[in-house]
Amino acid sequence: MPSGVADPVGFAAESVETEGDTATIRVRAVAGRGICPNCGRASFRVHSRYHRRLADLPAGGRMVRLVVLARRFYCHEARCSRRIFAERFRELAPWARRTARLDTIVQHLGLALGGRPAAVLPGG
Ligand SMILES: [Zn+2]
Repeated sequence: MPSGVADPVGFAAESVETEGDTATIRVRAVAGRGICPNCGRASFRVHSRYHRRLADLPAGGRMVRLVVLARRFYCHEARCSRRIFAERFRELAPWARRTARLDTIVQHLGLALGGRPAAVLPGG
């Protein structure tokens, strides 16, 4: 349900938990495939999933912990030396470091966080 704020770079929020002043946001990539970093071939077969903690950043008066549900894929390219690869978050790395963008996420999830939309952080 779009409300004027776009989903962050192809990621969807899985869940939001708050404990005290810390909000833990779990996100996953919406893309149904991974691209092998070795050969560039797309794969749709998921090998396994794991959690990757990306950032602990202050936003809107809370500490926001960003956890990505990342996947490992099989590479089916016969000539590729990689059999399994972890999906990459090229877009997410710079995004996670920018509090301004993180603030957008928090605003996006404002209702789930049980509060008002976060105030815009100074600087950035
Ligand atoms: Zn490959």
